[in-house]
Amino acid sequence: MRLLLLGGTSEARELAAHLVDAGMDVTSSLAGRVARPRLPVGKVRIGGFGGVTGLRAELADYDAVIDATHPFALGMTTNAAAACADLPLLRLERPGWPPDPAWHYVETHAQAASTAAALGGRPFLTVGRQQLARFVPALGTLPVLARVVDVPDLDLPPPWELVTSRGPYTLSSELSLLREHGTDVLVTKDSGGTYTWPKLEASAELGVAVVVVRRPPGPDGVRTVHDVADAAAWVKELA
Ligand code: NAP
Repeated sequence: MRLLLLGGTSEARELAAHLVDAGMDVTSSLAGRVARPRLPVGKVRIGGFGGVTGLRAELADYDAVIDATHPFALGMTTNAAAACADLPLLRLERPGWPPDPAWHYVETHAQAASTAAALGGRPFLTVGRQQLARFVPALGTLPVLARVVDVPDLDLPPPWELVTSRGPYTLSSELSLLREHGTDVLVTKDSGGTYTWPKLEASAELGVAVVVVRRPPGPDGVRTVHDVADAAAWVKELA
């Protein structure tokens, strides 16, 4: 069985390692967004497919698809659902973080920007470089700290400071960063997982307000599991 694994997440790398180890024919797919991606073991292809049409054409080479992309990679998830009408498709989506009544939930990044502006004067943005432009209108005059993996293609407002790094992070490093910057409001997506969880622990410890962008709803009717073991079991059953 030839499996296409849509990746770009730690779960996708974990699943690829597991399936390759079990002797499966797995090809991981990455978007090619970051300059130095962490590569999964096994075969890898990099770059977009060219929308639903391109993906459909490429699927002629596969027997099943697992969409293990990030919970906020809605474009890829929507395309996979549309292209896999005749092919088994499984969505592997890590759970969101356990809700905290102290957090301020919003639906969009634009709402996150206005909520952060109302809550603090020294925001820390951890929303990814593709979303930063949405924060400029509301936060452009504030001393924002923006953390990204790769430098964004955007002229940042003069008071903004950019830090490039990639998780996993530790509680002590997050405490230091928040203290150094004097962060009073953190903005994050509900990415879930352990890699970036310490910023939320650090915020709780320091009394920093937290704004969380909710996940977009995924496509209806796609079978979904929430951990790697369940995804591996699905593949074994199919094989
Ligand atoms: P997106 O908005 O859902 O996707 C936009 C386009 O990028 C897709 O239509 C597709 O292009 C291409 N693409 C996305 N994921 C791909 C993959 N795994 N393999 C091949 N092409 C892919 O995606 P995104 O939010 O920019 O995320 C890009 C990648 O980064 C994803 O693989 C995701 O797992 C990872 N990632 C995203 C986030 C996030 O916060 N969004 C965080 C961490 C990691 P075509 O239409 O040309 O096929």
